[in-house]
Amino acid sequence: MGFYPDSIPAKSARATPAGRVRAATAALALAAAFPAGAAALPAFTGGVSPLPAAAKARMTPSVWRPGCPVPLERLRRVVITYRTFGGRARRGIVVVNADIARRTLGAFRRLYADGVPLRRVVPIEAYGGEDFRSIEADNTSAFNCRAATGSSRWSQHAYGRAIDVNPIENPYVSGGRTSHPASVPYLDRARVRPGMAVEGGPLVRAFDAAGLQWGGRWAGTKDYQHFSTGG
Ligand SMILES: [Zn+2]
Repeated sequence: MGFYPDSIPAKSARATPAGRVRAATAALALAAAFPAGAAALPAFTGGVSPLPAAAKARMTPSVWRPGCPVPLERLRRVVITYRTFGGRARRGIVVVNADIARRTLGAFRRLYADGVPLRRVVPIEAYGGEDFRSIEADNTSAFNCRAATGSSRWSQHAYGRAIDVNPIENPYVSGGRTSHPASVPYLDRARVRPGMAVEGGPLVRAFDAAGLQWGGRWAGTKDYQHFSTGG
């Protein structure tokens, strides 16, 4: 997405299709040789900063508008490096409340070190602030001024205190069902596949270490993609 300069592949990825294939092949070979880590990839880079004026403009009014429970000044742009499902390094952006920005950076640093793949990580204004479209794209995202699913209360996402990770692999499950056809195979949580959040797995451990609670532990309705400071 050229719209987001920081979502272009990180420096190590080659620009040409042939280079991309070579890089991917090398990454796969190294992944086979070092299955536990990200030995083939460059070091994690990232950081926390206030939202640039251009980002604030893009977010208004689809993602943020007057009346939302936190002002744009309370939000931070967390730039991260993540591993793709193809084993390459990419740069992503997560927008969260200032009070969880450092630990969010820490959690994504740990995901990268542990080789946990993410599909894409772009701010939700790329999908007009529509959660459904962002999920269909299997996009990892955080801040979005919206109500909780099936409720009139503000979601923790509206405070920038919740992060949804790989939402296709980690669906919101109510009554044993998901609204996203691509998530149906992932209703089976016992068969663990890449990018899934499971108890004891590296994805859940990274967010546990950051002090964010997992929606996969909720009684009844489960929100396997959701990590938050509560609710
Ligand atoms: Zn969520």
